[in-house]
Amino acid sequence: MIYTTKFDASSPDVKFVKKMTDAYYEKNGKRPGVFIRTFGCQQNEADSERYMGMAVLMGYEKVETEEKASLILYNTCAVREHAELKALSITGQLKHLKAQNPDLKIGICGCMVAQEHRLNDIKNKYPYVDFLFGTGSHEKFPYYLAESMRKRKRVFYPDESYSIPENMPVRRESTFKGWISIMNGCNNFCTYCVVPYVRGRERSRCRENILAEVEELVKNGCKEITLLGQNVNSYGKGLYDDYGFADLLSDICKIKGDYWIRFMTSHPKDASHKLIDVIAENCGDDCQPKIVKQFHLPLQSGSDAILHKMNRHYGRKTYLSLIGYMKEKIPDIALSTDIIVGFPTETEEDFLDTLSMLEAVRYDAFFSFIYSIRRGTPAETMEQVPDAVKKERFSRLLETQNRISLEKNKEYVGKRERVLVEGRSKTDEKMLTGRNEKNRLVHFEGDDSLIGTFVNVKIITADTYCLTGELV
Ligand code: SAH
Ligand code: SF4
Repeated sequence: MIYTTKFDASSPDVKFVKKMTDAYYEKNGKRPGVFIRTFGCQQNEADSERYMGMAVLMGYEKVETEEKASLILYNTCAVREHAELKALSITGQLKHLKAQNPDLKIGICGCMVAQEHRLNDIKNKYPYVDFLFGTGSHEKFPYYLAESMRKRKRVFYPDESYSIPENMPVRRESTFKGWISIMNGCNNFCTYCVVPYVRGRERSRCRENILAEVEELVKNGCKEITLLGQNVNSYGKGLYDDYGFADLLSDICKIKGDYWIRFMTSHPKDASHKLIDVIAENCGDDCQPKIVKQFHLPLQSGSDAILHKMNRHYGRKTYLSLIGYMKEKIPDIALSTDIIVGFPTETEEDFLDTLSMLEAVRYDAFFSFIYSIRRGTPAETMEQVPDAVKKERFSRLLETQNRISLEKNKEYVGKRERVLVEGRSKTDEKMLTGRNEKNRLVHFEGDDSLIGTFVNVKIITADTYCLTGELV
């Protein structure tokens, strides 16, 4: 069942936890710390900002390490096995912290926990984890935490229903970049993917609340807003008869201000010409706001046979025709994609079809994944490709895309790019780092005061993954 809920900031659970954190403050002269670690996608990042909002409301103070925390929450991912193993291994390291501080509360939530076998694994093998809950009802986090405190025992909450919560407190990581979740869940059931099982059916937030959130972010000086959903093109289905994602984007563009609008992710079967037209109308240099000239359109495979087995509902021809329409309407649009290599039964010929799509579309960037078996999905029981073959194809795929990315990046040399400055470069303290509207990483020397602002940078050199330039 799916239902809209309203977060209640003065519920008995919020009050109960607040009483506990106030008592901690009385005793220790400081607020108890909360540490949240996020695995996986932007949707999880956005959810974690809400968990942090609720924790702060209940009297916790954000801390930067697990060691300083009285409450630890891990928000997990289940899309590939690697992400799950990483989360489990880091959870294992919490054993000694709990031994040192028995009052420490440890919670694990998110997509991994929404799978029964993982929930049971953690329940049985990680006795120092206090509470577990899936993705179904974020707004119940105070209840889950309060219950584990009240009952003084471990509590586990498998998802039974799925809500679309409103009125959530949020503690954003950035003051100038904002995630807005516009919908949750997925109805597509691609045969390799666990998302529909762990995030439930599609459900959209009502437009008034989304528009109000955009307006508030813009009023507070936000420079980039990213609309999030597993399949944003399904926005509004089941909620409105005649109002979809293109209409929502168009309405957001009426909220004037100097900011960029991004969105992800789009399913090629649902990306409409109407949507592309709205982008084309609102992506000019004089548009404020401006929808970025960048489109992420996951292809997954370039083979019609594999796409069919993946249950993707499009083929090479329809995908290329959509790309053709985008390039016709927005000639300098930057394109990116997701590719899976080694999907069950993939032959060398299928793989060559994927390589040929990279050459045909000439993506600016891509995210590539080696197929990972997900329990309970239809592809689990299909004929698997040997690991060595998957790895060999993966490296050929990277080689091809890296060459194209470098060629495309070189086209920027000598050009002036508008860049949103994000912070100091992690690899070179002297350099600032940011992104242009096409999501290319740009490095340049500059002062900290520029962080969170738009600047113009003249591009001097280009690498596969980033551009380097100087402030104009
Ligand atoms: N809703 C989005 C994103 C889903 S997960 C979409 O449809 O595009 C993000 C990416 O992870 C997917 O696009 C896919 O490329 C990859 N992925 C999903 N399941 C996978 C699996 N079992 N093995 C490898 N990659 C996977
Ligand atoms: Fe997974 Fe497909 Fe849904 Fe994306 S559209 S979340 S890949 S099932």
